[in-house]
Amino acid sequence: MKKPELLAPAGSFEKAKAAFRYGADAVYCGTGSLSLRSRAEVDNDDLRKTIEFAHELGKKVYVTINIYAPDSVYDDIEKQVLMLKEIKADGILASDGGVIEKIKELAPEIPIHISTQANTLSAHTANFWYKNGAERVVLSREMNKEDIKELIANIPEGLETETFIHGAICWAYSGRCYLSDYMAQRNANLGDCAQSCRWAYNMYIEEANNPGNIMPVEEDSTGTYVLSSKDLCLIKEIPELCEMGVTSLKIEGRLKSEYYVASIVNIYRSAIDDYFNDPEHYDYKKYMTEIDKIKTRDLTTFFFNDKKNTDYQEFAGKQYNPNFEYGGMVEKYDADKSLVRIGNRLTVGDEVELIIPGEIKPVEFTIEKMWDSETGEEVDHVNPGKVGQNVLMNIPVEAKEDWFIRRKRK
Ligand code: SF4
Repeated sequence: MKKPELLAPAGSFEKAKAAFRYGADAVYCGTGSLSLRSRAEVDNDDLRKTIEFAHELGKKVYVTINIYAPDSVYDDIEKQVLMLKEIKADGILASDGGVIEKIKELAPEIPIHISTQANTLSAHTANFWYKNGAERVVLSREMNKEDIKELIANIPEGLETETFIHGAICWAYSGRCYLSDYMAQRNANLGDCAQSCRWAYNMYIEEANNPGNIMPVEEDSTGTYVLSSKDLCLIKEIPELCEMGVTSLKIEGRLKSEYYVASIVNIYRSAIDDYFNDPEHYDYKKYMTEIDKIKTRDLTTFFFNDKKNTDYQEFAGKQYNPNFEYGGMVEKYDADKSLVRIGNRLTVGDEVELIIPGEIKPVEFTIEKMWDSETGEEVDHVNPGKVGQNVLMNIPVEAKEDWFIRRKRK
C-alpha cells in the first residue's frame, strides 16, 4: 500500500508555506482569472516563489486553469501555460477539452490533471481522459466509496486519482451551478462563485385561492438556509481511502486562512501517518476533537458511505467556530518573552493552544503575562492594529517561527 499524497489549498504564497510547514506533500493554486477561485489567486511572482519553495522541500505545486473557456481567453491561456512551463509547475488542473489540447501542444512535459469541474464519475470517463493525455483525474464529489473502488480497479496503473477529503461541498452538482451568477452576477463556472447557496433566504408561501395571504417560511431564529451544505469531513474514512489506493487526498479551501489550512493539514497529516505506522489502532476520535476546534460549519461524509445520505444540510448557516479562534503566530521564540504576531484580541488569562507541526495534540497554556513589543511595558490585553501587531508573552515550550496559536473563546 502506497501512502497517498496530502494535497492542500494555497490561495497565496503564505498559505502554501503554512500548508508545507504543517505537512502537506503538495499544494494547488490558481492563476489570474483562469481558475475556479478567481478571488484566491496567487500572482505570477507569488506562484514562482511558491514553486521554488516547494521544490527546495521536494514538494509539488499544481496550478488550476479549470474554467470552461470561451475563445476570447485563449491568448491568456497560452501565456499562462508558457509561464507555467517556464516556472516548472508540477501539474495543471483543467477541465475544458480545448484548454487540455492547448496544454498538450505548448507544454507536453507538464502533467495534466482533470479537474473536479469535469465531473469524472466512472472508469469509462477516466479512461477517456487517460487516452487524451491525463495523468490524474480528480474524482467527482458525488461518488461513493464503492464507485471509487470500481473506478480504481478499472483504470490503467499509470492514471492517478485524487479525491476530496475535507471542505466545502456544492449544493448543486459540483460546479454545475448558476445560482451565484443569477444572484450576484458572479459566474461559478468562471471561477467567481459568491457561495450564494450559503446565504440566508427569506421564503414565503401564498395560498393560491387567497392572493395576498402571504406566510413566511422560517427554519429558526438563526435564519433560513435552505440551500446551505455542511462541510465534507472524511477523517474517520482515512483507512479506507488509503486501502483503496487513491493517489492524492485533497483538502478544499483556497479562500480559507493560513491558520485554517495549517490546522486542517496538520490533523490529516497525523491521521495518515498514524494509520501507516499502526493501522490496527487508528482511532479517528482524537483527530475529530481537533477538527471540532477549527470547523466553521457542521460536518458530513456526504455520499462517501451512502449515496442516499441526506444529512448534509447546514440549517444554522454558521460561518465561524463557536469555541476557538485564531490567536496569533510565533514570530520569534525566547525562553522568557516570545514575540507573537497578534491575530485577534488577546487578554491575560486567555486559554490558548500552540499548534505543533506533526503533533496532533497542541500545547495548552494560559497567558500569564504580556508585554508591549515596542515599549516593553506590561499590558493586560492587545488588539490587532491597536497596541501593535506584535506582543511579547511567555510560551511554555520551545516554539518555532510561524507556528500558530489558537485562542479559546470565552
Ligand atoms: S453557489 Fe454554492 S452550489 Fe453553486 S457553485 Fe457556488 S458553492 Fe457550489
